[in-house]
Amino acid sequence: MGPSGIVQDVHQMKKPTWRHVEIALARARQGRNLSRREITLLLTLSEGDQIEAVFKAARDLRRAYFGERVFLYGFLYFSTYCRNDCTFCSFRSSNKKCQRYRKKEPEIVEAACELAASGVHLIDLTMGEDPEYCSNNAIGLNKLVRLVESVNGATGLPLMVSPGVVPDDVLIALASVGTTWYACYQETHQRALFSRLRPGQSYDARLGKKVLARRLGLLIEEGLLSGVGESCGDVADSISVMEALKADQVRVMSFVPQEGTPMEGWAPPDRLRELLTIAVMRLVFPEKLIPASLDVDGLSGLKRRLDAGANVVSSLVPPDRGLVGVSRNSLDIENSRRTAASVLPVLQECGLMVGDSADYAAWIESRKKAVKQDGFREGVPC
Ligand code: SF4
Repeated sequence: MGPSGIVQDVHQMKKPTWRHVEIALARARQGRNLSRREITLLLTLSEGDQIEAVFKAARDLRRAYFGERVFLYGFLYFSTYCRNDCTFCSFRSSNKKCQRYRKKEPEIVEAACELAASGVHLIDLTMGEDPEYCSNNAIGLNKLVRLVESVNGATGLPLMVSPGVVPDDVLIALASVGTTWYACYQETHQRALFSRLRPGQSYDARLGKKVLARRLGLLIEEGLLSGVGESCGDVADSISVMEALKADQVRVMSFVPQEGTPMEGWAPPDRLRELLTIAVMRLVFPEKLIPASLDVDGLSGLKRRLDAGANVVSSLVPPDRGLVGVSRNSLDIENSRRTAASVLPVLQECGLMVGDSADYAAWIESRKKAVKQDGFREGVPC
């Protein structure tokens, strides 16, 4: 199982020549837009020296916009209950084989303070669409807003909240209690594939929450899964939607087959596709944040993601608290390999360093200013 559209793309496109690659990279270095065809071409590369040229251009652009600075994100998956049944996700409602928990507010605040003390720049508060929060009328959602307020008050750090699709008034309330970021990944912008990945969910409702979040002045993160049946053309289209959304942070993660799900038997995708997508996103969005997630391959996969142009290390999880990640639930957590301290040698190896919190705050302020100035143009192409 696990047919990949990428194979199809490779066969359909003429083999890219050095000239094609050089022209696309030169355009990106000059700050010019890449066409859909150029993006697709770069995503389909398979020759080692051409791929390395793309990674180098991505690193050069990262350096031009961010210097050597990288930001660190702490991740707290505080409830793994979910009312949805996404086919790719371990925490889908029908999966009896996953680890479920719902952490209480004091534990979450304590874990957030531990992360803050370790030097992260941001706390990402994530949950499944837990019925206790999402289907408990105002009581549950009010509890979510109070939780965000408590973590904000206790840590003083920027917060990213990833609660899934919540009612508009909850987004408004989250914005009013100091949330900086709203993350709600589409995972694909190909509607038929979206329906297979997220059965019973509305593509437009999900996208619309990000549009609203931006109107509310929140920064937004949009994300893709790599290796779930998308073609390179689909990825190019996703990049175009990310551009139209004006997402401030864009992420891609390789799909990891999950036990007890309909996609359990899919072949794990070649990581090269994720790395090329990171690099191409850097070429298209040189000024944005692009995470290297520890959630897919743990600490051992960090260097190659940074070498592809990422500038955020995400999914740092405190050990000894019974917390999990998303796609590799336990990888590197309890042996403390997903901590701020553990990533420092890798950053050093890549010639990078942890940015100051003042650098991160300045970046956020500049983006918020841009959000205000821009407003939001109607009509996201999808
Ligand atoms: S991806 Fe999110 S919404 Fe879908 S089942 Fe998993 S936790 Fe729930």
